[in-house]
This record gives sequence, C-alpha cells and structure tokens, in this order.
Amino acid sequence: MSETLKLLSLYPDQMNIYADRGNITFLENRCQWRGIGFEVVSCGIGESFDPGAHDMIYIGGGQDRDQEQVAQDMITTKRAALTEAIESDAVVLAVCGGYQLLGTSWATDSGIRDGLGILDFETVRPDEPRLIGPVAIEIGSDLSKATVAGFENHGGRTWLGEGVRPWGKVLAGHGNNDRDRTEGVAYRNLIGTYLHGPLLPKNHTLADSLITQALQRQGSPEISLEPLEDDLEEAAHRDALEAALSAR
Ligand code: GLN
Repeated sequence: MSETLKLLSLYPDQMNIYADRGNITFLENRCQWRGIGFEVVSCGIGESFDPGAHDMIYIGGGQDRDQEQVAQDMITTKRAALTEAIESDAVVLAVCGGYQLLGTSWATDSGIRDGLGILDFETVRPDEPRLIGPVAIEIGSDLSKATVAGFENHGGRTWLGEGVRPWGKVLAGHGNNDRDRTEGVAYRNLIGTYLHGPLLPKNHTLADSLITQALQRQGSPEISLEPLEDDLEEAAHRDALEAALSAR
C-alpha cells in the first residue's frame, strides 16, 4: 500500500493525561508495520487547521486546569474547522476531557463552562466521588458486536440529548454518568469516550477500524488491512476486559 494516514493531534501539550498520546504511537506502528505512511501534525493554543487536510483528528483527556486552558481557545480558533471535518467524515477520537468539550457545556468544581456545542450533550459535576476504574463496554449493532475495555477517571457526568447515539453500552464500570449505562457518543466517524489511553493498545481491532475508516475517507472504499501477528495485543485486550468484568 502506498497510502499515508494524516493525523491531527489537538492540544497534545495540555490534553494528554494517562499517556493518551500512546494511542497515536500505536496507530503509527500498526500503519508502519503494513507499509502505510503516517504523518502527525499538532495544533495547539491559538493555531488553526485546515479541515480537509487530515484523515483523523485526536484529542486526549486533561485535568480541569488544562481543559479550561484549551476550552475557550478551541471555541474561538477550532470550532468551525472541527465541525466541517466531522461533517465531512473525518475520523475523530476524543477522549474524556476532549470528549466533554464537544458538548454544549461541561463543568469543573467551580462552575459550568461553555463547550463547542458540536453535539447535543452536557456534562455536569455533582458533588459526588469521581468515577474511577476499569471499564468494559459493548459497541456495534446486533449484526456485529465487539467489546472495548479501558480505564476511566472523571468527575464530570455526561448526559446525551434526545436522539444522540452513545458509542457503547456499559458492561462494567461507570460510563457517561453512572446511571443510564451509556458510554461515550458516536456520530458519523466520531467517537467520544471516557476510556483513556492506552485505549487503542488494549483494543487493537478498534485501532484497525479507525485506520480503515481514515484511509477510506481518502477515497479508497475497498481497504482491507493486512493482518498482523496480534498475540500480545489479544492478550492485552483479554486482560483489560477481565480486569473490568471481575471488578463488577
Ligand atoms: N476534567 C474532566 C473531569 O474530571 C476530564 C478528566 C479527564 O480527562 N480524565 O471530568
């Protein structure tokens, strides 16, 4: 294959808690092992980006302080481009704090803040313990279901608006709000999720489906990724899943 996957990393200096950046390394390795090129461009505070120039956009999680630092900047300098990229089927993976920012509002211990309002959901902050621990979810439709396992640590509780589709159903852990068993949000090729890095190393089939979608967006509908030797990756997935299910 001669394709190159172009990834845009939003706010890598601020939004990189729990080594969320490791997800990018994992994608890069899986592309390189197959002879697929991989380019990463970063976009930070005050910078703008071309919505058509990237196949995949990544934003990680952050502590409240870091999240506050980027929130206003994101509304001012990136909202329009991000909306355009999402609507034209860029693959977007937004983790935890990065996920919260896509909704209409989010909250810290000291108050409610504006989100980008790209999707209809809000994140509130009740005076309750943080939601921390291993998590397992089921994604997909009746025809093709898959499990995804990871780790969550968030004070915010996210409530999806009417008709907004969650990414998955919580099998173990807390998910969006610890009440309705939903996890994350899915819209076109966007996934918002509370599952932190190393989300992709623990879920290599998810990583491959993101790579496939990203390459397909370049106009090659028939992408079939070369299989890799995934014994270690499969063991990592099994361990993460068992850790979550046995903690129920
Ligand atoms: N600051 C947000 C919260 O606690 C997001 C945390 C995170 O990204 N881990 O809800």
